[in-house]
Amino acid sequence: MKGNSGNHAEINKQDIVDSVPQTGFFGHPKGLLTLFFTEFWERFSYYGMRALLLYYIYDQTVNGGLGFSEATAVAIMSVYGSLVYMSTIIGGWLADRVLGKSKSLFYGGVLIMLGHVALAFPGGATTLFLSMGLIIIGTGMLKPNVSSVVGEMYAENDNRRDAGFSIFYMGINSGAFIAPLIVGSVGQKVDYHLGFSLAAVGMLAGLLVFLFTRKTYLGLAGAAVPNPLTREERGRVLTRLGIGALVLAAIVVGSSLLGWLTIRSFTIAIGVLGVLIPIAYFTVMYRSGKTTEIERSRLLAYIPLFVAAVMFWSIQEQGATILGVYADKRTQLDFMGIRIEPSWFQSANPLFIIVLAPIFAWIWTRLGDRQPSVPVKFSLGLLFAGLSFLVILIPGQFGGGGLVSPLWLVLSYFVVVLGELCLSPVGLSTTTKLAPAAFSAQAMSLWFLAPAAAQAINALISPLYSEANETLYFGIIGGASLVLAVVLFLLAPIIRRAMRGIH
Ligand code: GLU
Ligand code: ASP
Repeated sequence: MKGNSGNHAEINKQDIVDSVPQTGFFGHPKGLLTLFFTEFWERFSYYGMRALLLYYIYDQTVNGGLGFSEATAVAIMSVYGSLVYMSTIIGGWLADRVLGKSKSLFYGGVLIMLGHVALAFPGGATTLFLSMGLIIIGTGMLKPNVSSVVGEMYAENDNRRDAGFSIFYMGINSGAFIAPLIVGSVGQKVDYHLGFSLAAVGMLAGLLVFLFTRKTYLGLAGAAVPNPLTREERGRVLTRLGIGALVLAAIVVGSSLLGWLTIRSFTIAIGVLGVLIPIAYFTVMYRSGKTTEIERSRLLAYIPLFVAAVMFWSIQEQGATILGVYADKRTQLDFMGIRIEPSWFQSANPLFIIVLAPIFAWIWTRLGDRQPSVPVKFSLGLLFAGLSFLVILIPGQFGGGGLVSPLWLVLSYFVVVLGELCLSPVGLSTTTKLAPAAFSAQAMSLWFLAPAAAQAINALISPLYSEANETLYFGIIGGASLVLAVVLFLLAPIIRRAMRGIH
């Protein structure tokens, strides 16, 4: 039974490749255009919304904000970011067993758009939480699936595959780059809700591209349901879902009746979940009868890499929360005759990615076999992440008070990107190679659990930040990253051996 479906899937793979026009987009399959622009617009809406949301949450109500404290705002942003990545587990499962990738990503996009539409209306905290719910589920359904359809368009041994993913990565970061400048500017200069409505328009544009080009450009890619639920499984799943929903509802109702359901308690619950879910994933994979001895060794090798990724994303994502507060409160915003909006700083990271990614790719190719191993690259990722926090500590500690030049922030974003380019582009492929074969479908979700855990932890630690303790805050977190970088570097030979032939 299993073997049959395996063969079946293999035949399908070639059929899928054959159904996609193999050229037409920079020498790549035409479907890459569809996926590039769908993801471009989705990331535009996501990062545009996030560039604005932080300020919307803590701005005073007289200015049109929600008037929460800054500490609560960074906690909400982090919990939100964590859940967006956690929900890729649900999105991956839905695509695999019920909807297929293509449908899952399309309906996900619709939910995302509705989430932004909700924020386009002035509705207070309730609308915010509704919008978050829609975007969490929607992104979980879209993000992992749009990336894996990219992979489906290339034949197994097609050497354009890596280049295809690099182009796709440019799409992600181009959307993330222009969004703060457009959504952020309109939101901060004119009106928050008008800004959020532009995010909705962006997602609509992505959906239209997908809808109109899918048939001819994507062929069969993303169409199949790889491992559909059988009839008995359907009954079982529905029962479990029902029970799960009841338990959840009981917890929510019970705890709100008791007065326990607060933003704080919810943050703690997500913090715990963010750490427990990856532990559960690893345990299940490690103990599974389908995991071989070699795969166990690879899995153990993956654990320190995963921990490093969590540390890295913790710092990288604070660029949108803590450094967002820093941009607003601590930075000189009238600069060289220009009035800078704090949201614009969110364009720095993707801009540096776009500029530097080709240079990094060139360096790795030039180095060929002499390029650093994966554990060393991860260690470099942590080194730069740590340094980026030490950079931003300098002006506060040694600048003699007063507002700080925006160039310090820009430098900090630049340094973290050096790390991001060592870690992020290799992360998913490393996960795919080190995850046991029986769990390969979950590799994408597993990799996304790193930023999920990172932001769950951020939700707990970020509220500790204040202007008064800023040196200590950046120093401890940046220092922790440097220490981990050294530990990982020292462990690199052991990790490499445990990877058993995988590079
Ligand atoms: N900035 C990347 C994106 O939005 C991060 C993805 C990741 O966490 O790997 O796609
Ligand atoms: N560099 C991030 C990613 O690759 C984008 C961002 O943080 O704005 O998409």
